[in-house]
Amino acid sequence: MKIGETTCKSILNKSGISGVEYAINPYVGCGHACVYCYAKFMTRWYHKGEKWGSFVDVKKNAVECLKKEVTKKRPGIVLLSSVTDPYQPAEKKYGVTRKILECLMNTGFPVEILTKSSLILRDMDIIDELPEVEVGLTITCMEDKIRRVFEPGASTVQDRLDALKTFNDAGIQTYAFLGPLLPYVSEDGLEELMNTLADRVNRVIVDRLNIKAGNWKPIQIALEKNFPELIPEFKEASRDDSEYYDEVRRKMRVGFDKRAIPADIVF
Ligand code: SF4
Repeated sequence: MKIGETTCKSILNKSGISGVEYAINPYVGCGHACVYCYAKFMTRWYHKGEKWGSFVDVKKNAVECLKKEVTKKRPGIVLLSSVTDPYQPAEKKYGVTRKILECLMNTGFPVEILTKSSLILRDMDIIDELPEVEVGLTITCMEDKIRRVFEPGASTVQDRLDALKTFNDAGIQTYAFLGPLLPYVSEDGLEELMNTLADRVNRVIVDRLNIKAGNWKPIQIALEKNFPELIPEFKEASRDDSEYYDEVRRKMRVGFDKRAIPADIVF
């Protein structure tokens, strides 16, 4: 992993993501190196030609920028993060996300955090004091052998589930982002996952795989190495009119309704 430093002109940026007004990305790049990552397009502007997941740049003036911006911009929900993971391994050393949370305290900006790392537990003290906050953990499968293939740098599935429980038990609003659900490989354990989430989340968001984000090549390479028989299935399931995802949507709707977990299925 190549770690560098960079500066930004602004850090509190308008977001097109539904339900949030702003996104803060404390880093450029992401050490979680997810095979399907939709943020790979960032290499059009940064680290051209380098492999996504092999570099991280720390935005060293992030807090300085944020301090000015919170006084000038209208308060709205801030998502940490949209094109990086705020608790990727580099955060352990650099702590930019922690400093950003400290800076957002008492500014009137509600905070939504989404991560694949149990490192978020380190900041429970600050998160607990934020007046409006929601903690989300992404979970795309129940089996860690699948996680190792598609999300090699992220926390284990169990650690993420445990983190959700810890926050929820502490009275902090939590959600699980189940996405992207990977055709066939995510399926094993979905019932078990829905059961497990019942005592640790206030809501879930579910999404399918999108292979229009320029990410098919790395997915294909991972499949060739680990599940070659699934390549045709992945291609078929990823079509817009996929019957596969119609069935997944139906199963998840029934499953979450049965468990009384509010579910936003966005496909
Ligand atoms: S954690 Fe998110 S930003 Fe990081 S590589 Fe995975 S999908 Fe991309």
